[in-house]
Amino acid sequence: MPKPILVLNCGSSSVKYQMIDIDSEQVLASGLVEKIGLPQGNITHKTGGQKYTITEPITDHTEALTLVTRAFQTWGPALGDAIAVGHRVVHGGETFREPTLITDEVIAKVSELSGLAPLHNPPALDGIAAARQALPNVPHVAIFDTAFFATLPPEAYTYAIDRELAETHHIRKYGFHGTSHSYVSKKTAEFLGRELGDLNQIVCHLGNGASISAIRGGVAIDTSMGLTPLSGLVMGTRSGDIDPGIFAYLERDAGMDADATDAMLNRRSGVAGLADGSSDFRDLWAKIKAGDSHASLAMDVYLHRLVSYIGSYLALLGRTDVLVFTAGVGENDEQVRARAVERLAGFGLTIDPARNTPHNTEATIISTDDSSIAVLVVPTNEELSMAKDTYQVIS
Ligand code: ADP
Repeated sequence: MPKPILVLNCGSSSVKYQMIDIDSEQVLASGLVEKIGLPQGNITHKTGGQKYTITEPITDHTEALTLVTRAFQTWGPALGDAIAVGHRVVHGGETFREPTLITDEVIAKVSELSGLAPLHNPPALDGIAAARQALPNVPHVAIFDTAFFATLPPEAYTYAIDRELAETHHIRKYGFHGTSHSYVSKKTAEFLGRELGDLNQIVCHLGNGASISAIRGGVAIDTSMGLTPLSGLVMGTRSGDIDPGIFAYLERDAGMDADATDAMLNRRSGVAGLADGSSDFRDLWAKIKAGDSHASLAMDVYLHRLVSYIGSYLALLGRTDVLVFTAGVGENDEQVRARAVERLAGFGLTIDPARNTPHNTEATIISTDDSSIAVLVVPTNEELSMAKDTYQVIS
C-alpha cells in the first residue's frame, strides 16, 4: 500500500505541491498554481508522465486549493489517499524548533510570528487554512525553514545591538533554507558512507535565494541568513550583507523610507541589481562572455562574498571534511563552483575539471583525490525532506 503525503509550499502568489509516496520516495504528482490574485492565473498539474494546465482567475489561496483538489479529482491520483499534509512555513521564530503537528494553537502562534516574516508567513497560513478545509480528516504538519538552525550557539545568533531592544523585538539570527541544509547534509553523509555525527560540513545552498551553513557533526553552528532571509551571500535579487548604516544614509540622502530601502535590497539588488536586470546565472554568463563589465563585476562580487563565507566557516569549524554545493546554481553552474574553489587553493582544495560537469542530478564528488577537503555536488530535494519530516511527526 503506498503512503502518499501531500507537501505544500504556499508563496504570496503561488502554491507549489507534490504528492510523494513515502516508502518508494516516488513523486506521484506535482504541480504549481501561479499568479494568484492576478487577472489570469493558472495551474499546471503533472502526473503519470503527463502535464495538464488550467487557466482561469484565482483570487486567493482558498481558490488555489480548490483548483488543486479539482486537478487531483480530474487527473489523479486520488487526493483522498493522502495520509498527511506537510506545509512549508518560513519563520518559526524562537517557538518552533522542529516539525510540528498543526493545531489551532499552533496556527495562532505562527500568526504571531507574521511580523518577523510579513511576506512569507501569511500566505503559508492561508494555505494551511484552505488545505485543512479541503482535507479535514488527515493530520497537517508545519515544517519551518528556521528549525534546523535552532541549534546555533548564542555567540552565532546574537547581534551586537542594544540587548533589551533585541529581546523585546526577538531580534536575532534565525537562519533559513533549513530544510535544504538539513536534507543535503544528511544525504552527503549517506553518500560518503560516513556517520553524520563524525562529519564537519560547509553547505552552500546557491539558488535564487542563497545561504551557507557550517555544520559540525550534523548540528548547525552558523549560517548566513539572519533575522530575515536578506543577509549573507549575494543572491539573485537580494543584496546579502550590507553596512546597516545604508538604511539611515539613504533616508537622509535620498529620502528613501525603510520600506523603499527594504524593497530595493530585496528586489533590485544582488546580481540582478549589479548586472542591470537578470538574476539568472545563465544570462549573467552570456553577458560576461559578451564583454559586459557590470555582469563581470556582479560575478566577482558574488564569488568574493561566497569565498569569504567559506573561509570564515573553515575557521569556525576548525576541521572541515566536506564542502557541498546545492540548489539551482550550486547544482548546475560548474563555473561558479570552479571559480569559488580556485580561490580556496591556499587551503589545499582542488577541483577535478573532468568531475565538475554542468548538470548534477545525483550526488557527485568533484574534487581531486588529493584535495584537502572533499568538494561535492548534492542535489537538494526540499519536498522529499518535507514529506519525510511530515511522516516522522505522524508516526
Ligand atoms: P529558488 O528555489 O531559490 O527559486 P533555485 O534553487 O531553483 O531557486 O535556483 C534558481 C536559479 O538557478 C536560477 O535563477 C538560475 O540562476 C540558476 N540556474 C538554474 N539552472 C542553471 C544552469 N543550468 N546554469 C546556471 N545557473 C542555473
